[in-house]
Amino acid sequence: MIGIAVLGSTGSIGVSTLDVVQRHPQRFRVLALSAHRNVERMAEQCLAVRPRFAVMVDAEAAGQLRDALAEMSDPPEVLAGADALERIATLPEVDAVMAAIVGAAGLMSTLAAAKAGKRLLLANKEALVVAGAILMRAVADSGAELLPIDSEHNAIFQCLPAQRPEGLERAGVERILLTASGGPFRNTPAADLARVTPEQACAHPNWSMGRKISVDSATMMNKGLEIIEACWLFDTPPERIQVVVHPQSVIHSMVQYNDGSVLAQLGNPDMRTPIAHALAWPERIASGVDMLDIFSVARLDFEPPAPERFPCLRLAYRAAREGGTAPVVLNAANEIAVEAFLDERIGFTDIGRIVEMTMDQLPTVAVDASGPRQGLTQVLEVDRQARELAEQSIAGLAPTRVG
Ligand code: NAD
Ligand code: MG
Repeated sequence: MIGIAVLGSTGSIGVSTLDVVQRHPQRFRVLALSAHRNVERMAEQCLAVRPRFAVMVDAEAAGQLRDALAEMSDPPEVLAGADALERIATLPEVDAVMAAIVGAAGLMSTLAAAKAGKRLLLANKEALVVAGAILMRAVADSGAELLPIDSEHNAIFQCLPAQRPEGLERAGVERILLTASGGPFRNTPAADLARVTPEQACAHPNWSMGRKISVDSATMMNKGLEIIEACWLFDTPPERIQVVVHPQSVIHSMVQYNDGSVLAQLGNPDMRTPIAHALAWPERIASGVDMLDIFSVARLDFEPPAPERFPCLRLAYRAAREGGTAPVVLNAANEIAVEAFLDERIGFTDIGRIVEMTMDQLPTVAVDASGPRQGLTQVLEVDRQARELAEQSIAGLAPTRVG
């Protein structure tokens, strides 16, 4: 039996993970779940998978969960806070940790799982964006197994040789072709983007996801974060990563080799495929995803991205090239700006403006990952500064919008 902890179990990835795991009760045992404040869904999940631990973000939510589970026989131990999150990520009986908290909020628990040498199923791409050097070092030092859940990175992982030398060039890889759906505004005229609503931005044409990543897909910041994610996961510079807009989302990414071969991974756009792949790797298990009907797909289209309409993509390339603390600033400013857009405090096109203003204000410095502690302190401090500056810039924008 493989013991599993699901961090962010009430979210889109968390729910898909439990769906796959529950199809294989002889193989997996869910030992711990965590959520922010969704007590109702967490209570349902506790009744369904009977974990030993359930962690909520604070004491108030934990109290509500205890009340909701008052009638349950043999209920889980309900805990609260960041320490509890790290505790369930490192339990000795836990073999695999699904890191599916959204945003930099997932960093410390993801890092704890890496340091504890777990199989780390990484959905929380922001952790890698803000602390790539630190996280990759922790994985190398502890012997943790890092398996990408992000569909593109999972596809690339599947298209690369299982045993490969360090650095992709030595494996004969010319380029990674990172596919993007283009999001809901692929064909929206640039002049109309300023007025789109959160509901329109969250209505992704192919994937059903949490609200933050849905907005990121609409701005293409999601693809930008994925470029940085791919640089760390596959030890490659950003120049070797090419973004390809592929509206059908059937090819989940491709790897181009120096002999002219291009390998691709295809499937229906359903996150249960990469989740099942990573849970069972190197074996394969059923995921519940419908088999791809290639005849109904019929055609596959490809086009280059339009950087003038998607400034976030350009900003992410800039952060990837600058390295150091630049991705920390990019991510923190983006998290603040997306939240402000979802709250209707700023417009859609302000997201890229806020990110760029914040990047221009904070000079990039190198991250010292020689020892995990100093690098982490530095990253957390830059993250805090960037959030503060982004909030200030948003406050500066607001009056012009109201007027
Ligand atoms: P979501 O918003 O649906 O779920 C987020 C989960 O994290 C919830 O369980 C929530 O309770 C928890 N959470 C939120 N804030 C928290 C905090 N401050 N502390 C502790 N827990 C907190 O998000 P999602 O779409 O499932 O995405 C999760 C992660 O996976 C993101 O990093 C996203 O980029 C990545 N991802 C998602 C998809 C997808 O299809 N949804 C695809 C690829 C990658
Ligand atoms: Mg993705």
